[in-house]
Amino acid sequence: MIGVLEALATTLRTMLRPPVTVQYPKERLPLAPRFRGIPRLLWDEEKGEFACTGCGACARNCPVGAIRVTAQDNEAFKEGKSTRRRIVDSFQLDVGRCICCSLCVEICPFDAIAMSHSFEFSTSSPHELVLDKERLLSLTPGDTETL
Ligand code: SF4
Ligand code: SF4
Repeated sequence: MIGVLEALATTLRTMLRPPVTVQYPKERLPLAPRFRGIPRLLWDEEKGEFACTGCGACARNCPVGAIRVTAQDNEAFKEGKSTRRRIVDSFQLDVGRCICCSLCVEICPFDAIAMSHSFEFSTSSPHELVLDKERLLSLTPGDTETL
């Protein structure tokens, strides 16, 4: 009998407690400052160009092969406006593969990539999961970017 009363008391307490769930996506919990979404490319405001030189170090070290990158000669370097001899030509990141490990950020010798706060990419088309450099530039900045 005591057990039944205790169970009823627990049920009553739980019924009167405010809900701990939120109605996502209408309601959202704040992200932790060091939350890792997928990586995003950074823009060099001073030079007015991508900070990425297209060196490919991130692509070579990504454990799941989520990055493809090509580089081209930098016209701004020839004109003396930039210190980057080479600059990114195309950069593709497959969100469907990325495991948000941050290795590409750690390995980048130019601090040209950082973990963003973007993580919502649900789609019915796998092609839409491959983001180009312009899209990667527009992702929500994280709190740990240095550029
Ligand atoms: S965060 Fe990790 S898995 Fe994602 S692109 Fe960078 S290295 Fe690859
Ligand atoms: S993000 Fe960094 S490591 Fe990757 S290609 Fe650009 S400069 Fe190289």
